[in-house]
Amino acid sequence: MDSILVWFRRDLRDTDHAALGEALRRGRRVHCAFIFEREILDALEQRSDRRVEFIGASLVELDTALRQRGGALLVRHGWAAAEIPQLAKELGVSAVFVNRDYEPQAKRRDAAVRDALAADGIAFESFKDQAVLDGDEVLTLAGRPFTVFTPYKNAWLKRLSEDDWQSYEGRACGALAPDQAATGVPSLANIGFASTDLRALGIVPGMSGGQKLLTDFLGRIARYHQQRDFPALKGVSYLSLHLRFGTVSIRQLVAKAIAAGALREGGEGAATWLSELVWRDFYFMILDRFPHVAERAFKPAYDAIEWEQGPDADEAFAAWCAGRTGYPLVDAAMRQLNSTGYMHNRLRMLVASFLTKDLGVDWRRGEAYFAGRLNDFDLAANNGGWQWAASSGCDAQPYFRIFNPVTQSERFDPAGRFIRRYLPELAAVPERFIHAPWRMTALEQAACAVIVGRDTPAPMVDHQQARRRTLARYAVVKRLAAP
Ligand code: FAD
Repeated sequence: MDSILVWFRRDLRDTDHAALGEALRRGRRVHCAFIFEREILDALEQRSDRRVEFIGASLVELDTALRQRGGALLVRHGWAAAEIPQLAKELGVSAVFVNRDYEPQAKRRDAAVRDALAADGIAFESFKDQAVLDGDEVLTLAGRPFTVFTPYKNAWLKRLSEDDWQSYEGRACGALAPDQAATGVPSLANIGFASTDLRALGIVPGMSGGQKLLTDFLGRIARYHQQRDFPALKGVSYLSLHLRFGTVSIRQLVAKAIAAGALREGGEGAATWLSELVWRDFYFMILDRFPHVAERAFKPAYDAIEWEQGPDADEAFAAWCAGRTGYPLVDAAMRQLNSTGYMHNRLRMLVASFLTKDLGVDWRRGEAYFAGRLNDFDLAANNGGWQWAASSGCDAQPYFRIFNPVTQSERFDPAGRFIRRYLPELAAVPERFIHAPWRMTALEQAACAVIVGRDTPAPMVDHQQARRRTLARYAVVKRLAAP
């Protein structure tokens, strides 16, 4: 091909990039573009959003990297379905290359762009880049998508070959085009957004930020399986935001996990981490193959559940959002989300279980709250996580398994270090009461100057009673599922 336009979306890097690598291999001149999509930005709740700032800063780094290689990034603000065909025509390219997206809205957008381009005789090609293995590469013996994780993971590992994690670097023939029209990345203000506390939180955007976190994590990967469940420890990689926007390559991460022993005897840390990357592929595949999950339960019987409605449910939801349920670890987790945009995986499971099974609130309300607040929000993983916790998902925990918020706290934050970090008002509570301050006598409360109901909320539900209500609520599932 003579010239190709690479349209960047959630893949903001110039290294090991499938669409860019293919374009440089097959085209003589390669143009690069990014659209600040109004369809996405206009729907955001707030005009100050860490994710928009992260994208903007990552684009500046990407543009610089492309310029060092003789190219440049064309950046527009508008509707992709109009901007991309127009740009493709202006540049006179014969094809537009993208990395594949699995979200229903993105698939609709890509179909509209494909149709508009086709009308002008311009091709549209998509490549696998977000996932290690696509849905059609990992199928059951009957040729169907897996709906249970463990057999999926086993088939995934069996199917995995070196080609799947080989980098796209060094396969190029063509050259990047130095577009005169590329005038840099617009400021946040130019696209109607204000800056955030992203840098103050220590988040480094772009490829450099991703590599920094990766280097740090590789020094700890061998201990991942022992430390990943304890939110007070630095046990996980914190790479989810970079994976979300493609400022790291999933192939690079798989290669590093394998180099760290993920497929060898004794490499439990790396193997457990690789398994999390497989969960990521699994949920991409589920969203791609079963798009109804974006609105409804994966298992239809779970749509018959009657969730709490009305002012009491609204109040319970508001208390959960604000981190004022009275259960310290649940509240500390929600405060972590509200103040940083991140929440540890163990806590995502706990608060999702608490909302659906202790408060009886529809999982979709929690899912939407997470979508608005998580820096790493990803529809596939978020929906998968919520449906897992609500038991409505493909490979979810059984509905009668209900996390006890106090025993979870004792197990995963034994000394209450995480709780104290995010709930400073409980700093003086003795360790044996930190998971359930309401168990202190009036005298004990006075001694540490933490009065339940005054300095910290009393628990808003009794877990045992809530548990019984949940079992009754979920009984409808058993009736519907019965032969
Ligand atoms: P690590 O433990 O270092 O894991 C490495 C990577 O593996 C992660 O960055 C992520 O890309 C992937 N991963 C790990 N666990 C999962 C999982 N269960 N499902 C899919 N991918 C996984 N993850 C998101 O990226 N975006 C979300 O919006 C999101 N919402 C969630 C909502 C709920 C209710 C639950 C239970 C989980 C959710 N997760 C989500 C999965 C997981 O909690 C985060 O990926 C993880 O906490 C990110 O931290 P990390 O990068 O340090 O993870």
